[in-house]
Amino acid sequence: MSTQVTKSDQSRASTQPVAGSAREAAVLEAVPTQLLIGGQWRDAEGGATLEVIDPSTGGVLCEVADATPADGMAALDAAVAAQPGFAAMSPRERADILTRAFELLHERIDDLALLMTLEMGKPVAEAKGEIAYAAEFFRHFAGEATRISGGYQTAPAGGARFLIARQPVGPCLLITPWNFPMAMGTRKLGPAIAAGCTSVIKPAHQTPLSMLALGQILLEAGLPEGVVNIVTCQGAGKVMEPLIRSGKARKLSFTGSTKVGKILLEQCAEKVLRTSMELGGNAPLIVFEDADVEEAVAGALAAKMRNMGEACTAANRIYVHESIAEEFGRRLGEEMSSMPMGRGTEPGVRVGPLIDEAAQDKVTELVTDAVDRGATVLTGGSAPEGEGFFYPPTVLSGVSPEARMGSEEIFGPVAAITSFSTEDEVVAAANDTPFGLVAYVFTNDLRRSLRVAEALETGMVGLNQGVVSNPAAPFGGVKESGLGREGGDTGIDEFLETKYIGIALA
Ligand code: NAP
Repeated sequence: MSTQVTKSDQSRASTQPVAGSAREAAVLEAVPTQLLIGGQWRDAEGGATLEVIDPSTGGVLCEVADATPADGMAALDAAVAAQPGFAAMSPRERADILTRAFELLHERIDDLALLMTLEMGKPVAEAKGEIAYAAEFFRHFAGEATRISGGYQTAPAGGARFLIARQPVGPCLLITPWNFPMAMGTRKLGPAIAAGCTSVIKPAHQTPLSMLALGQILLEAGLPEGVVNIVTCQGAGKVMEPLIRSGKARKLSFTGSTKVGKILLEQCAEKVLRTSMELGGNAPLIVFEDADVEEAVAGALAAKMRNMGEACTAANRIYVHESIAEEFGRRLGEEMSSMPMGRGTEPGVRVGPLIDEAAQDKVTELVTDAVDRGATVLTGGSAPEGEGFFYPPTVLSGVSPEARMGSEEIFGPVAAITSFSTEDEVVAAANDTPFGLVAYVFTNDLRRSLRVAEALETGMVGLNQGVVSNPAAPFGGVKESGLGREGGDTGIDEFLETKYIGIALA
């Protein structure tokens, strides 16, 4: 049975801890709530804390340390101090730590999934999936740690030799979003640790608990003091900007909105920090007339409903050929309307709450705007009365290209369908955005699939599949969706410098 969503005027603003099961209380009790600096758990300067909210009720789950800029600098100083020793650690030892952390994530997957559901809202089954996915980054980069290679080359004119060495970039600043509280962390920490870089990581203020639990696991796995430092805070800009501008860090790896990414790129310019930017998306999902409609509906469901639509890879614009648009909309509507919504801890729930009230309001506004511009609601379409930040699975057809959701991330469980007639027309529409993270294409025509995949201006394309994320593949976007790639065999390059040593032989 899913939770009944009922109106309440604000447990959201309440400071009373949420009453949950004994197991929920035990899981919350076990997670550290302090800052991790130099291998020690400690309070924020002045003892300030920030509240962690349960998005399914709006109530307070617990409080964690709210770091000041001085705490942030202490964390960076700890990372700087640990850097030389960690760079000198053997690749095999670094790999062994990642492997042990991978194992611990699996040993504790049930508790970690519950913790993630409590702070972020996604159903426990999805949270488990995320932890398994997060752990894979550690397994993948444990392998990469021992495969960092260089080169030896004869100069074209002869005589001299070139020695090409790879070295850790140095202390890194890592900033992660709330939507994948564990995986966005391990996607950065895995390659950073493998490469021999120390770091300060700052999770989103809504979801600090998963990262704190990860910090505990990394220490247990044998990570030396100061290699990973965790700073939780609600004043992200105030705490992180001095660190970026200090010149003590050598790299910033950020996952979050394009808006914040642009601010950070400007800040990084001052000391010419290396950057990796995993930013926003506006993914098109294209269903051609020759596609298998059932497969396309399943793919759209995955691309839309993973994480309640709160994913940078979520299908934001669904283009369906006019000859099958009606059937596709009806079948997607049937699937989406049958997904139980409720608190993610309840068995059978497939749609949890959105992250906060602002997210719920934004989805409501975007749907209202699309309907005002002529869209038809096939299912869902309005937030339920009640506590928590829920929004039901919603399918809209006939969405105008001028609707705001054509150019803004919906970040919610709303499928926006527009029909098209020709391949050229749909490729032009799909590319008509400053974003370029991922696109999905459903067709059974091999020539068309490759032609369209090449023409789409995105870093990734899913062909007849609705999920592309895989730790062994290079994840990332083009245009305003970002810089650099995470995962794959190139993911570790983001944390390595190339040094060329010229050698005279005579
Ligand atoms: P966000 O507002 O950009 O926040 C992301 C992170 O940046 C949070 O930790 C946030 O801290 C921090 N932050 C905010 N302002 C900052 C500042 N001035 N200086 C330093 N740090 C700052 O994004 P979000 O709403 O959490 O996440 C959703 C966005 O992330 C979407 O646009 C989504 O597409 C994108 N995303 C991209 C990928 C990808 O791989 N391309 C993956 C997941 C999500 P606070 O929480 O304290 O504000």
